[in-house]
Amino acid sequence: STMRQSRIKRTKTVCTYCGVGCSFDIWTKDRQILKVEPTYEAPTNGISTCVKGKFGWEFVNSPDRLTSPLIRRGDKFYEASWEEAYQLIAEKMTAIKQQYGPDAFMFIASSKASNEEAYLLQKLARNVIGTNNVDNDSTYCQDPATYGLRTTVGYGGDSGSIHDMEKADLIMTIGSNTAESHPVWATRVKRAHKLKGTKLVVVDIRKHEMAERADVWVKPKPGTDGIWILGLSKYLVDQGWIDRKFLTERVDGVDDYIESLAPYTLEYTAQMTGIPKETTVKVAEMIHEAHAMSILWAMGVTQQRDGSETSLAISNLLLLTGNFGRPGTGGYPLRGHNNVQGASDFGAKPHFLPGYQDPSDDEVRARFKKVWGTEIPKNMGVNNQELTGEILKGRIKMLYVVGEDTALVDADANQVRDAFSQLEFMVVQEIFMTKTAQYADVILPASPSLEKEGTFVNTERRIQRFYQAMEPLKGTKPDWIILQEVAQHLGANWPVYRHPSEIMDEVAQLTPLLAGVRYDRLEGYHTLQWPVAPDGTDSPLLYIDRFHKPGGKAQLTPMSFVGPSQEAEKFDLHINNGQLLEHFHEGNMTYRVRGIEHLVPEVFVEVSKELAMERNLKDGMMVRLVSPTGSVKVPVLITDRVSGHELYLPMNSRGEGAINNITGTGIDTRTDTPAYKETVAYMEILDEE
Ligand code: SF4
Repeated sequence: STMRQSRIKRTKTVCTYCGVGCSFDIWTKDRQILKVEPTYEAPTNGISTCVKGKFGWEFVNSPDRLTSPLIRRGDKFYEASWEEAYQLIAEKMTAIKQQYGPDAFMFIASSKASNEEAYLLQKLARNVIGTNNVDNDSTYCQDPATYGLRTTVGYGGDSGSIHDMEKADLIMTIGSNTAESHPVWATRVKRAHKLKGTKLVVVDIRKHEMAERADVWVKPKPGTDGIWILGLSKYLVDQGWIDRKFLTERVDGVDDYIESLAPYTLEYTAQMTGIPKETTVKVAEMIHEAHAMSILWAMGVTQQRDGSETSLAISNLLLLTGNFGRPGTGGYPLRGHNNVQGASDFGAKPHFLPGYQDPSDDEVRARFKKVWGTEIPKNMGVNNQELTGEILKGRIKMLYVVGEDTALVDADANQVRDAFSQLEFMVVQEIFMTKTAQYADVILPASPSLEKEGTFVNTERRIQRFYQAMEPLKGTKPDWIILQEVAQHLGANWPVYRHPSEIMDEVAQLTPLLAGVRYDRLEGYHTLQWPVAPDGTDSPLLYIDRFHKPGGKAQLTPMSFVGPSQEAEKFDLHINNGQLLEHFHEGNMTYRVRGIEHLVPEVFVEVSKELAMERNLKDGMMVRLVSPTGSVKVPVLITDRVSGHELYLPMNSRGEGAINNITGTGIDTRTDTPAYKETVAYMEILDEE
C-alpha cells in the first residue's frame, strides 16, 4: 500500500566507523534498517563497503540506548528532565568557573560526532567558559603524523585522494594493518597490486594479510621503523637515487638533512632494526625504479615514543625522492575514527582554533572576537594526555565529554579512573552507558548520525554530508542541539542555529582553510576536499606547485630518536595491539550489533609458534600478561602472524582482557601521543589442562 511505501526511506549517509569515510544509501522503514546500498556516485568507495559499513548499524536500535538525562545521586543515577539536567549543569559550571577560573575545565570532543558538533564544543570551551582546554581523540593516534607533515610540507592531512594513491606504481605501508583497520582502502591497494602490477612494500612487525601479499615484507624490531627509513634514505642518497631537481627547486634544508643521515649506514641500520641489508637495498631499488610512490602509515608508527620523528622521516623520504605533488605520490596517514580528522579541523584542539589557526595570533583572535563577541584565550590549553595529571594535581575540576569512552581508551586506564573519581563535576553526552559515563554527574542522551544531519571529514580531507534517516530516538537529542541548549543555560550570546548548515556558515566565515564550504556545495554525493577557496574550489591533490610553507618550499628536518624504553628484564615479551576487521576500537558500537559480535565473540592474544614451543602453550590456554602498569587475562591463539617474543592483542577486547589495562605511560616526545605499541609484559600460565 502507499501508506507502507511512504514509510520506506532512502537516505544518503556516511559510515560511522573508520576514517576511509565510505558513503552509501541506507534504506529504512521507520526505525528498521532494511539495507545498505552502495552506489557508483560515492567518491571514495564507489560500490565497496566492508562488514562494518554494511552491517554495523543495528546499534541504533539497541535496548541499551540511553533515553533520558540521568543525574547522579550517590552511587546511583536517576532519570531527570532535560530542564533539570541543564539547570544543574549551568549551576555547577558557573560555580566552578567563579571559584577556580576557566582553566579548571576540560572539554573532550567526539571523533564520531559531526564537524559542526566539534565546532560548537570548542566554542563552548573558548567563548562561554574562556579556556583552550579542549581536545579530541587525535592525541591518542595520529597527532604525530600531523606533526610530521605540518613540519615538512605544511598541511596535517593526507596529501591526495584514494584515487591519487591508486596511480602509484609503488605503495609502501608502514605500521598499518590496512586490511583490517581501513578495509576499503586496502581493497584499492590490493586491486592496484593485482591488476595494475603496482609494487607493494609492507613494513610491519606482524605478518598480517597485507604483509603476506606484499612483494617485500620488511620486519623491523619493535620501535625501529624510523631508523630503518633513515638507513634507506642514506642508501638512496649514496646511490644518487634522489631527485636533485625537485630538491633544488622546491625544498629547503637539503644539505643539513643529508649530512644528518651519515650515521645510518646499511650495517648500522641492519644491526639496529634487525632488517637484513639486502632487504633495504631491494626496497631502495624499487623506489628508484618507481615513477610515483605513495606511503601509507598508521598507529604502528604513531603510537611510539618516536612516532613524530618517524612520521617526519617518512615525509622526508618522500621529499628526497620527489614524491609529492603528482598523482600517485604523497603521504597518507590513515585516520582511525570516521571524524577524527574533522574534530581537529574544526578546532577541538588545545593549540588550534578551527582550521589550525593559532590562538596566540592577534589577527586571528581579533577575527574570532568580532564574531563571537569575547576575547579568545591566548595560552595553550591542556591536551587529553595531560588530563589525568592535571586532575590529580587538582588543577582540573570539571570534565565535559562528548561521545568518547576516555576511561577505556586512554593508556593506563587504571590511573585515568582514579583521576575521574576526583573530579568535582563531570558531564557526558553519550548514546550508551559507557565506562566513562559511569563517572559522570550528569549524562545527556545523544542521537547517532542516522538520527541527525551534519558533515564528517574523512582521511582524504574530504568533507561529506550525512542526512537524517530516522527521527532521534524518543528521549534523545543530537549533540549540536544539546550543546546549544547548554550554552543558552550558561547565558551565552549565541545565534540560534536552526540547522547544522548555519553552524558551517559561521565556520567558513572564520576559517580560511574552509572559506568556501557551504551545505549547498555538498548536496548528496558532492564533496569538498580542503583547503576550499571562497569560490568553492577545493584541493584533492596537494602541493602541485607549492608547499604550504613560508615561501612555498618544503622543509627537510633532521631527527633525534629517543628509542624504545628499556624496562626491567623480567618483562620479556613485547605486546603489539591493533584492530580486528569485525570490531571497531573499544567496541561500544560493534558489540551491540548481534551479527558482528557472533563473528568474533572472544578476546585472545596471538602468540608465535616459537613461544608456544618454549612455554608449552596450547590454543585456548588461559594466560595472564603482566606489564609494569597492570595485567590482562586472555586465552592464547597460536599463529605464524607473530614471531619470537612478540605478541598481538586486539584493541577491541573487553573487560579483563582490555589492552589499556596494561599499556604504559610512555609518550611520543613531541605530541604526547601514548606509546600504546610499546607495551612489554611477562606471562603467567593460568591453566595447564
Ligand atoms: Fe566504514 Fe571504513 Fe568499512 Fe568504509 S572501510 S565501510 S568507512 S568501516
